[in-house]
Amino acid sequence: GGAPKLKTENPATGKPGRTYDGHTREQALAIAGKAREAFPDWRRTSFTERGIIIGTAARILRERKDEFARLMADEMGKPVTEGLAEIEKCAFNCDYFVENAERFLANEPVKLDGGRAYVTFNPLGSLLAVMPWNFPFWQVFRAAAPALMAGNTVLLKHASNVPGCALAIEDVFREAGAPDNVFRTILIAGRDTAELIDSPDIAAVTLTGSVAAGKAVAEAAGRNLKKTVLELGGSDAYLVLEDADIDHAATVAATARMVNGGQSCIAGKRFVVVAPVREAFETGLAAKMSAIRMGDPLDPATKLGPMVSVKARDEIHRQVRESIGKGARLLCGGEVPDRPGAWYPPTVLTDVKPGQPAYDEEVFGPVAAIIEARDVQDAIRIANDSEFGLGAGVLTRDIRRGEEIAARDLEAGIAFVNENVRSDPRMPFGGVKHSGYGRECGVFGIREFVNIKSVHVR
Ligand code: NAP
Repeated sequence: GGAPKLKTENPATGKPGRTYDGHTREQALAIAGKAREAFPDWRRTSFTERGIIIGTAARILRERKDEFARLMADEMGKPVTEGLAEIEKCAFNCDYFVENAERFLANEPVKLDGGRAYVTFNPLGSLLAVMPWNFPFWQVFRAAAPALMAGNTVLLKHASNVPGCALAIEDVFREAGAPDNVFRTILIAGRDTAELIDSPDIAAVTLTGSVAAGKAVAEAAGRNLKKTVLELGGSDAYLVLEDADIDHAATVAATARMVNGGQSCIAGKRFVVVAPVREAFETGLAAKMSAIRMGDPLDPATKLGPMVSVKARDEIHRQVRESIGKGARLLCGGEVPDRPGAWYPPTVLTDVKPGQPAYDEEVFGPVAAIIEARDVQDAIRIANDSEFGLGAGVLTRDIRRGEEIAARDLEAGIAFVNENVRSDPRMPFGGVKHSGYGRECGVFGIREFVNIKSVHVR
């Protein structure tokens, strides 16, 4: 039979966009086969040769950034100003791995009793990258640039609602001079991905997405004994301590919550506030959040566009209504605007407690949850009382204590003091618990998909 079509829809207007032809199972397998065939030649290129191609990809990204920002706005509603910043970040990430891959993967000598020994890092083969729509370029480049620099080939299975972005990224690598099939996009549905993982043409899998998708992919990869890296959901907690600068804390909280309209794994989702400053923080956060206006994603002044889809918006609204039904108090927002498209206003809930979706579930939209804690120890307990463990923050004037809590006490892969959590190509990124395992970015990221080989010569 024919492959399913991939339909796009502009979430700002609710109007249908372009439709793309998907790949059949046979076509997808054939592309995987070609990426596998491209591997032996690609792995034998030098870091310099690979660097020229990835460096050119960075230049193309910068040259075509307006076009790509527009594409993201059309397919998933990202405001163009954020889209431009995302493309710049992708280019910086490419440059960073061009500059550092050789050093990160240089042979490491080992002192043994006799002879000469060292560790060398060989690429694994073809990496399947299953990616989400929320940062349609960044997530892909975060995974692909180090993998390619390490000498792997890459197969992208992007989210079904951003096929234009998926093809544009393939085009960037082609235009940059990557040899045929070193980077390929396959357009298949999430549910058909597990079957592809059985193919011997795929060496390893990296997935960024939901816990459910992570489990499905890890199961398929496990059956085949293939290495995986999983970057899954998050419900990042920020601790607001009694000595925090409340105005600054509210600014950081609003910024953390509103990353990508709240649709980010490392968006701040739960604000755990000690009792004496709870009211002041509520007032501060509600003021900062309600000052953010929804607007046309194509307007450069817009900070908050629509959500990705009406379905996602309805799910957020359910989480808000159900939380209120179970005792949460609405401080601002919480009403679905009467207009076409996937709009939802900045919303703040307080008195959030266990049993409410705003406490128990990942809330993937512009909704902040305030949770009161008795004291610092109670706040740490609440922050860790989550199935997730991706990012976390501490807001306090006592830097030493804040740092101790961030570095020692929080069950998270990333913990910031007095700043909102952000990813950076130079710093490892990833989580614990249901937020996944493995790391992207930095030296830890590039060493995930290599064969760490011990060599001893006598
Ligand atoms: P999703 O449904 O899991 O989609 C992510 C990717 O997985 C898509 O390409 C999707 O393809 C695919 N997929 C879905 N079900 C699958 C299955 N059973 N087997 C294999 N692949 C499958 O994620 P989402 O809900 O759109 O995205 C939001 C989630 O991603 C949130 O939980 C968020 O926290 C997480 N996220 C995590 C990070 C991180 O770095 N930790 C970054 C961004 C987002 P289809 O589109 O074809 O279904």
